[in-house]
Order: sequence, then C-alpha cells, then structure tokens
Amino acid sequence: MKSFPSIFISHGMPIMAILPSPTHNFLKKLGKKLGTPKAIVCVSAHWETVAPMFSGADFPQTIHDFYGFPRQLYEISYPAPGNPLLAKEITEAFSQNGISSKIDFDKGFDHGVWVPLSLMYPEAEIPVIQLSIQGDLGPDHHFLMGNALARFRDEGVLIMGSGGATHNLEDMHGRKMNDEPVQYAINFDSWLENNLLNGDAPSLLNYKKQGLDAEKNHPYPSEHFLPLFVPLGAVGEGKKAELLHKEFIYGVLSLAAYIWH
Ligand code: ZN
Repeated sequence: MKSFPSIFISHGMPIMAILPSPTHNFLKKLGKKLGTPKAIVCVSAHWETVAPMFSGADFPQTIHDFYGFPRQLYEISYPAPGNPLLAKEITEAFSQNGISSKIDFDKGFDHGVWVPLSLMYPEAEIPVIQLSIQGDLGPDHHFLMGNALARFRDEGVLIMGSGGATHNLEDMHGRKMNDEPVQYAINFDSWLENNLLNGDAPSLLNYKKQGLDAEKNHPYPSEHFLPLFVPLGAVGEGKKAELLHKEFIYGVLSLAAYIWH
C-alpha cells in the first residue's frame, strides 16, 4: 500500500468550525482530497503533557476548551471513535524508538482536533487518536515522535499536526479578522514556506535561531508550532512539502497548511 500523506494544518479560531471563511472552505474540501485513512493520529497544540500521551478511550468526548464563543459552538460534538488497540501499538513503537509514552483512557478531543476534523471528515467515522505535545522538549523530540509514527503511514494512517504557522495571540488583541498581515508574521511565514517546500528539515529544526522573527511569532512554549515537527518527522528528512492553503487572520495568524506525499 502507498503511504498515506501527512499534513500540518493551522486550526485558527474555534469559530472557524461554523463560520464560513477561506480556511473553513479549504478544510471542508481537504478530507475528500486526502481520501479515507484507516485512522488519524492528530497532535494538537492544546494538549500539553510532561511526557507523550495518547487518547485511548473507545469513544472520546468532545471538549469545548474555549470561552466566550456563540452557544452553537458548544453544542457541537464530534463522535469519532478512538482506537485503543492502535494507541497501544503506537506506544510500543515509541518505546522501540526510545520514547516512553502513556495512554490516557479518559482524554477527549480538544478543539485543535475536532474543529478541523469536523470539517474534513464530518461523518466522524474514522477512528482518531490524539497525541500530546511537550512544550519543554523542543522540535527534535517532536521530530523523533514523528519518526516513530512513520511506519503507520504505510498502514494507511493519517499523521496530522494541528497548530498554527504563526501564532502571537497577545498581538492579536485589538486587531480585526481581515486586517492586513504584519511584517514579522509575513517574514516567518515565508521562511517557513521556503524551508518546507525545499525539504530543509535541519533548518526547520533550528527555527529558533534561523527562522525570521521566530520568537515574535512563536513565543515560549511555541505550542502552536511544535505539532509541525511530528508529521515532518513521520515523512523523514529531505522530503519536500507542498503548500495546500494560505490565509492570514487578525494580521498575525497565518493559517497556512502543508502536505507531504
Ligand atoms: Zn489553537
């Protein structure tokens, strides 16, 4: 079987689940474009733990981990099943790669998972396993987690990073949805695109030093950027990405999305 593609998407704001926008429309078409994977392993910016954790419930709950949005958003549930057996297999693959990980049998899907997936695969029939990030362990660790996931691509599993190409939330306040992008966000977004399209994993892993305005776009703990390194590690060094989608909102949030075939 041909390896299933891996992707990185920027999930933007929770409201994108219901509010039409270029990114909402893009995500709605993305599932058909990718085809149907056997399962989805999604690493989300919104689940941070000390060591890697996988969701392992048969039917994970939908978590509404945000405040002040319209009621309609809190009524959405994404009833995709989990896949505890696959989660266990993956922890074994992690262990073979020298990474110790655990399963959380209570963990539900946070909005980094269900907002994009409810648009990509609205039938919610594909089993989903959520993977946590480790803010203190940096890009190399997340790349290695991706390496450990590589063989599951051959079994038809979609490895998906859900974060943000640029993400300075503090600078977002006072700006409007359709404001023109600020220069520092354009700088990092373009740097990221060039390196992903060139397959330059070493530069990407060294983004804190090499990335233009890296600190400004991804202040510590870079939780919206770290999910990128998991699909990057899953496809291996030197593999070139393709740009799938581009949009800026609030002048500082790039909603860029990439695919590796
Ligand atoms: Zn987020």
